[in-house]
Amino acid sequence: MSEMMRAAYLPGNSTVVMRTVPVPRPGHGEVLIAVKASTICGSDIRCIYHEHLGKGPEGYQGVIAGHEPAGLIVDAGSGCRRFKAGDRVIVYHISGCGVCNDCRRGFMISCTNPVYRRAYGWQRDGGMAEYMIAEEKDLIALPDSLSYADGAQVACGFGTVYEGLEKIGISGNDAVLITGLGPVGLAAGALCRKLGAQKIIGIDISSERLDLAVRLGLCDDVLASGPDNAAEVRELTDGYGVERAVDCSANAEARAMAIRATRKWGKVVMIGEGGSVTFQPSSDIIHDQKTIYGSWVTSTWRMEELVERLVRWELHPEEIITHRFSLEQAGEAYALMASGRCGKVAVCPGGN
Ligand SMILES: [Zn+2]
Ligand SMILES: [Zn+2]
Repeated sequence: MSEMMRAAYLPGNSTVVMRTVPVPRPGHGEVLIAVKASTICGSDIRCIYHEHLGKGPEGYQGVIAGHEPAGLIVDAGSGCRRFKAGDRVIVYHISGCGVCNDCRRGFMISCTNPVYRRAYGWQRDGGMAEYMIAEEKDLIALPDSLSYADGAQVACGFGTVYEGLEKIGISGNDAVLITGLGPVGLAAGALCRKLGAQKIIGIDISSERLDLAVRLGLCDDVLASGPDNAAEVRELTDGYGVERAVDCSANAEARAMAIRATRKWGKVVMIGEGGSVTFQPSSDIIHDQKTIYGSWVTSTWRMEELVERLVRWELHPEEIITHRFSLEQAGEAYALMASGRCGKVAVCPGGN
């Protein structure tokens, strides 16, 4: 194995800088992973790529970018208890202290220890490199029937969506509205399909994204974003509205519309980050007995559960990857993701 490797950094002016840096060595309880696939997240674009806007958990500290990696363990440090060289793994994208209440629930995303809570690609080196160090406790086993590109999307994208859908519960009783058909919205469509949703309605401003959702069979009906969306959704549901709504848009109008297009006793989950929303508590939720949930990422145990389900369902998250790039082309990959004219974008350092 060579001593040096290539790695991508995000200086915050809508460019990517490639550097040659030493291959790190795993310490106690850590593994060295040969990164095979590393997907780009909307939050990388929103908080890092254009400008370093994030604070606290979203503060980028100039590390190797990329928080959605999957790869092959090539070396394990002392003290590893489960994983070893040769294991295929997904990295849960935030490393927590492991012993606070949130970490004990598996939600290292919410770790309350400011010293030990460090997200890969934000506060510690991430997956946009040939190799990365990860803590063993942050790893999820990747079954052979799932590709590395499938795995890369489990942590942040599909895991985040699955958590939100489990909170509101999706079944064959439900018509589901998805606002925002970027990679997260497409993942919501794919998972709602497997969870048995009776009808899936998607809304987006981008005709490319609406077309992609239909072409992939992830929505039954798609609507171009507009002022009549709530009425259009009601028309598609015999006048009642949907039982479940999933906001992946982070757009104020879309969120308010999703609440109004949800029927009595229905449930709404908000996953899209940032922005705001205005609604009338009495007429929009109280009198119709509706519930609104917020959902942030997922837990390590739920991620393991999702991986098991993906195998059972023969669902391959890589189907929503529309573009793949080599590591040296990371600049092109981020620029495309920032344009929004794509599904999910993957960087594959292994060249696969
Ligand atoms: Zn992400
Ligand atoms: Zn913790």
